[in-house]
Amino acid sequence: MQIENGVFVVTGGGSGLGAASARMLVEAGGRVVLADVNAQAGEALAAELGAAACFVRTDVTDADSAKAAIDAAVQRFGKLNGLVSCAGVAPAEKVVGREGPHRLESFARTVSINLIGTFNMLRLAADVMSKAEPDAGGERGVIVNTASVAAFDGQVGQAGYASSKAGVVGLTLPVARELSRFGIRVMTIAPGIMETPMLMGMPQEVQDSLGKMVPFPSRLGKPAEFAALVRHIVENAYLNGEVIRLDGAIRMAA
Ligand code: NAD
Repeated sequence: MQIENGVFVVTGGGSGLGAASARMLVEAGGRVVLADVNAQAGEALAAELGAAACFVRTDVTDADSAKAAIDAAVQRFGKLNGLVSCAGVAPAEKVVGREGPHRLESFARTVSINLIGTFNMLRLAADVMSKAEPDAGGERGVIVNTASVAAFDGQVGQAGYASSKAGVVGLTLPVARELSRFGIRVMTIAPGIMETPMLMGMPQEVQDSLGKMVPFPSRLGKPAEFAALVRHIVENAYLNGEVIRLDGAIRMAA
């Protein structure tokens, strides 16, 4: 799939990995709908990116809101070629502890945003893409989801988060297989520890020690490195149904 003249919806596009992906897509000649629940961040980035971007306040867990973001791509830019799903939350919660048992509402909210929200966007994007004209290679669209290494290597406090990301890993292959007949590819990136606002709240010494746990290059990952992988996935038609770890080979001890 060519990025130049392509139209992409990026969820979580106001911050971190989504913002870096949106920047990359616009720099490569694409147009982008920034879909984020955070209007301030999304509008600021849309203003910075100019006419090739617009912001639509979106809650990925809400069917109407998600549909409005997908529809905005067609209304504003005439078509939809790709979806990059980065919207997510990572609350830390223990199963038992001083605060009492892990709150069921919190577990459900994490799964709702990270897993059901990803699926919600994916099904709506695929519906539009499946009716589009294929490109010269028979491709109608590409979908890139974001999981996490927590799906394979969850830490204390990540029961909800790791479950939600394992769900994103799980949906990748069956959905890719189903959508293949429409010429739509589905890929998932499982990042390790990336330098984004999600992590930047941690004290510097914690960030430094996390970076040192990465065998190589012994630092946190950069949002631009995530965006570079998104670019590779979009442009490489032979990548389909796969989960790629982007983590410097980190394996966490329990
Ligand atoms: P971030 O907090 O910088 O960005 C997440 C964005 O998602 C925010 O702009 C937020 O407003 C948006 N969002 C949250 N709930 C939403 C909702 N219901 N609807 C629409 N938008 C919503 O975080 P990030 O680090 O850029 O994370 C992006 C994705 O990467 C997440 O799915 C996260 O779980 C995953 N991830 C991050 C890391 C990391 O180390 N930063 C590692 C592995 C996976």
